[in-house]
Amino acid sequence: MRRRFALAASLPALVALAAMALLADRLARRALEDELGARLLAVAQAAAASLPPDEVRAAAGPGPAQGPGPLEARLSTLARATGTRLSLLRPEGGALADSEGRAEAGMPIPGLEEDRAEIARAAAGAATASAAIREDAEGLLQKAGYAPLLAADGRVVAVVAAEGAAASDRTLRGFRRLLASLAVAGAVVGAVVAAVAGLNVVRPLMRLTEAAQRIARGDLETPIWKRKRKDQIKTLRDTMEEMRQALRARDEEREALLAAIAHEVRNPLGGMDLFTGILAEELAGRPEAAHAARVRAELANLERVVEEFLDFARARPLDLSPVDLAALAAEVRDLALPLALERGVRLAVAGAGTAPGDRERLRRAVLNLARNAIEASPAGATVEIAARADADQAELEVRDRGPGLSAQAREKLFRPFFTTKEKGTGLGLALAKKVADAHGGTLAVEDRPGGGTVARVALPATRTD
Ligand code: ADP
Ligand code: MG
Repeated sequence: MRRRFALAASLPALVALAAMALLADRLARRALEDELGARLLAVAQAAAASLPPDEVRAAAGPGPAQGPGPLEARLSTLARATGTRLSLLRPEGGALADSEGRAEAGMPIPGLEEDRAEIARAAAGAATASAAIREDAEGLLQKAGYAPLLAADGRVVAVVAAEGAAASDRTLRGFRRLLASLAVAGAVVGAVVAAVAGLNVVRPLMRLTEAAQRIARGDLETPIWKRKRKDQIKTLRDTMEEMRQALRARDEEREALLAAIAHEVRNPLGGMDLFTGILAEELAGRPEAAHAARVRAELANLERVVEEFLDFARARPLDLSPVDLAALAAEVRDLALPLALERGVRLAVAGAGTAPGDRERLRRAVLNLARNAIEASPAGATVEIAARADADQAELEVRDRGPGLSAQAREKLFRPFFTTKEKGTGLGLALAKKVADAHGGTLAVEDRPGGGTVARVALPATRTD
């Protein structure tokens, strides 16, 4: 998200800067070319006006070509004064003289061959600047200007060529490099600014996500972070904070209600159990003793139901500590032993390992799985409670050799109050799943190869959140 912000902000800036740089470069270069052409034309015209036509005519006339003479010397002086290279050409193209001694009489002057058309126009009487752009040895922009040298009678005696490079091309190049660096620097600055601005949005969103995850885990105590802002993020944060407080208030209400139930129902149950026990003893040996025993069994059942309801309804944040899984399995076995003895089912404990978790709630969850396994097992069968842990994951498994899950049970397994038992609450698996989820783990209840069911609580071995 941060990267997208940076890209979104720097890309248009980069494109705009590059377009501007390109345009500026084009314009500057065009202006430079035009100016160079005009200057060379003026130099050529001035040189043409200052050379004596008669001397030139003599030099251009038929007969053996003359060596470097006074004409050449004049050209050199003029060329030095104007910072150009001057050549004198016959109207039909061949060289006459040149300021640098390049001309071989009658041959085309090197570098000017391309400008045949311009030379012809000058020979026809019209001063012209070359259209072709060349680069000199240094790579600078170079052009040529051509002017006719007219005799007194108006005839064209020769063509003067002025060649020169634009010294300001060097400046232009520097300018171009500067523009390129500016474009790059602009893009970098844009990206950084956007990244910082993005951070301003992304960071609070990340914090809010963390807060939402905390609430989802059941932690309603930690307030959502506060920092002065005046935007939608503030609205979102304030709304989430209100939500958290409302949820906590509702939880507190529920806790109070549950405490009241515990007090009003569970405590009298204890008393009733005590006195029924005394009654059963007093009735020992008489047929009415069976009634007393029946009442006690029903009371125990009621006690268990109330306990399961309270367990399921309580929503406290996890109290995490390293849990010894073998010890936990042993505790579950001890707690499930009365039920197992009653059903004639054996309990076996195996495996070891540690995982961070809420010991009390994990014990409740696994105890529910063990109770289900015992209730599903035929007399004489064995229920296994096994622990296992590696670097990534810890598992607690409860295996039985019962009839396996019915099709109906498979579908509604974790739904609260779903039960196929006459006196079931349908809260055991719902609670176990809630505990597994709160740990960031999973609960799976599957058929076992060879018959029976395996219920597995898998927990992450290290908490990353
Ligand atoms: P309860 O035990 O009160 O019925 P649970 O949530 O613990 O509620 O279980 C829901 C239902 O899932 C049970 O009624 C039963 O039909 C099915 N079930 C759970 N564990 C097993 C098991 N080990 N073997 C077969 N069926 C099971
Ligand atoms: Mg159960």
